[in-house]
Amino acid sequence: MTGGAGFLGSHLCDALLADGCSVVAVDNLLTGRLSNLAHLSNESRFEFRELDVCEPFDCGRLEWVFHLASPASPVDYSEHGIETLQVGSLGTFHALDLARKYGARFLQASTSECYGDPLEHPQKETYWGHVNPIGPRSVYDESKRFAEAATMAYLRYYKVDTHIVRIFNTYGPRMQINDGRVVPNFMKQALRGEDLTIYGDGSQTRSFCYVSDEIEGIVRLAKSDEHEPVNIGNPTEFTILECAQKVLDVTGSKSKLRYEPLPVDDPKQRRPDITKAKRLLGWEPKVDLENGLRMSLEYFRGAVGKAIVSR
Ligand code: NAD
Ligand code: UDP
Repeated sequence: MTGGAGFLGSHLCDALLADGCSVVAVDNLLTGRLSNLAHLSNESRFEFRELDVCEPFDCGRLEWVFHLASPASPVDYSEHGIETLQVGSLGTFHALDLARKYGARFLQASTSECYGDPLEHPQKETYWGHVNPIGPRSVYDESKRFAEAATMAYLRYYKVDTHIVRIFNTYGPRMQINDGRVVPNFMKQALRGEDLTIYGDGSQTRSFCYVSDEIEGIVRLAKSDEHEPVNIGNPTEFTILECAQKVLDVTGSKSKLRYEPLPVDDPKQRRPDITKAKRLLGWEPKVDLENGLRMSLEYFRGAVGKAIVSR
C-alpha cells in the first residue's frame, strides 16, 4: 500500500487486514501521519516502512500493489507541485515495476480531476475531460492522467493485471484538518465558531462520498477483471453552499459564511456517473452526506481539540 499512512491508504490497510491479507504500508509521510496507523502497531500481519516511492523500492513477494501515494488536496499539491508530478510519474513506474516483478495485481488511485472542469455532466468514464495542462492544478491533474497512461501501458505491453479507480471527493475520519479540503475546513471552522470560507459564490458543485463506501468500491474493483477506469463516488450532488449548511446543521454551529475568491480553474460541477460500478461491481454508496458528517463528527472534534492544545 503506497501512501499507507494517508487518509484513504490507512482505511484501505484496515479493510485488507480484515479480509485476511498481510499488508505492508509504505509512505514518506509528506502529507500522511503515523497516527493514522497507530491502531495497527500490535498487528502481526501489518508492517510500515518509511520510504519515498520516487526511489525504486522492493517489499518482497506480494500479490497486490495499491498505489495511493500522492498529495491529494489542492492545498497540498500546490505546496508540493514537483513532488506531486514525481510521485505520479516516477512513483507510478516503481509501483508498476513491483507488480510486474511479482506477477501481482495493481490498482492505481486516480481521480475525478482527470475530467478537469468538465463539459459533460455527470461524468462517465468515457469522457476524456477538459483539463488545463499548464494551470496551477495541472501538477496534480496531469500527474494522474500520466499515471493512468502508464498503468494502461503496463497492461498492454507487459500484461500486468491492472485496475484504475477514479475517486470522487471522499471524506471521513483521519482526514487532516489542515489539508484545506472543503469538508475538513468547514468542520474545523464550524467547531471553532469561525466563519465558513466559501470560495466564489458557492454555487459550484461536488458529490461527497463517505470513506467506508469508497473503500468498499475500491476493494471490489481490485478483485474484479475490469482494467479500464471505474468511477467510485457518491452521485448525490451538492452546491458548496448546501454542503456548508449541512455542516452547520450537523455541528449545531452558529458560524457565519465568509466569501473568498474562487481558486483558478476550480471545477464548476462534479458528479460521477456510477452506472459502470453498479453493473460490474454491484456497488453503490450507502451513506448520505448528513449521516457521513455525523459519523465523522467525533473524529473532527478530537482533531480540532488536539490542534488547539498543540498550538
Ligand atoms: P493523503 O494525503 O491523506 O494520502 C496520500 C499519502 O501519500 C500520504 O500519506 C503521503 O505522505 C503519501 N505520499 C505522497 N508522496 C509520497 C511518496 N513520494 N512516497 C511515499 N508516500 C508518499 O490523501 P488521500 O485523500 O488519502 O489520497 C490518497 C490517494 O487517493 C491519492 O493518490 C489521491 O490522489 C487519491 N484521491 C483521493 C481523493 C479524496 O477525495 N480523498 C479523491 C481523488 C483521488
Ligand atoms: N472550497 C470552499 N471553501 C473551502 C475549501 C474549499 O468553498 O474552505 C470549495 C473549493 O473551491 C471547491 C470545493 O469546495 O469548489 C471542493 O474543494 P476541495 O479542495 O475539497 O476539493 P476539489 O474537489 O476542488 O479537489
